[in-house]
Amino acid sequence: MKKITIAIDGFSSCGKSTMAKDLAKEIGYIYIDSGAMYRAATLYCIENNLFLEDGSVNTKELEKQIDNIHISFQLNTQTNRPDTYLNGINVEDKIRTMEVSSKVSPVSAVGFVREAMVAAQQKMGEAKGIVMDGRDIGTTVFPNAELKIFVTASAQIRAQRRFDELKEKGQQADFNEILENVESRDYIDQHREVSPLKQADDAILLDNSHMSIAEQKQWLMDKFQEVIQKA
Ligand code: C5P
Repeated sequence: MKKITIAIDGFSSCGKSTMAKDLAKEIGYIYIDSGAMYRAATLYCIENNLFLEDGSVNTKELEKQIDNIHISFQLNTQTNRPDTYLNGINVEDKIRTMEVSSKVSPVSAVGFVREAMVAAQQKMGEAKGIVMDGRDIGTTVFPNAELKIFVTASAQIRAQRRFDELKEKGQQADFNEILENVESRDYIDQHREVSPLKQADDAILLDNSHMSIAEQKQWLMDKFQEVIQKA
């Protein structure tokens, strides 16, 4: 059967990855979490002291080091999900902390960081048969994707989901801090100069504020079936 490219974009913490991962598993496609790549680049900046005192990124130094950042994914056979590797080291847990969440948007607003990530993502999707989620997948990374979805939900609901997720992992979580982080990331992601977060003209909008995971899964599967039958 012909393979297609599936782009799932949207706001932070709106369940994009859960939907994307489940669909990829079900249809036997590769799943790539592009946000994990920006998070890994942010972790690199933290570990290499590339943040200035005012919280901005030392872009001059980062540019010199950008070719030292190698991000890859490997299937974790226990969770059956891909783990993120930074220069050969598994950083899956480290990139999900609040510290990384609070620093990732300025890093992902840097033009040369985006260029490097987009080039790597396009390479991963060369053979199609891929589901990638992020902010600019349908607009910049795969503008010709056969199926594009743009996911949104209210900031309150997204913050609650993130809060529940952190609690479940046994990590410390403060609801107001998370809500603030969700809102500030939305703002930076939508207003940055390079590839701002926006719905592609040909993307299908999904507001999942009041949908269960099972309902979203079915909705996405239906959309996939519609497109693949015509492909
Ligand atoms: O998807 P996730 O919330 O893990 O992404 C973390 C951050 O990475 C986002 O807030 C955004 O700043 C950035 N990002 C991006 N472009 C993507 C994916 C993520 O700028 N394609």
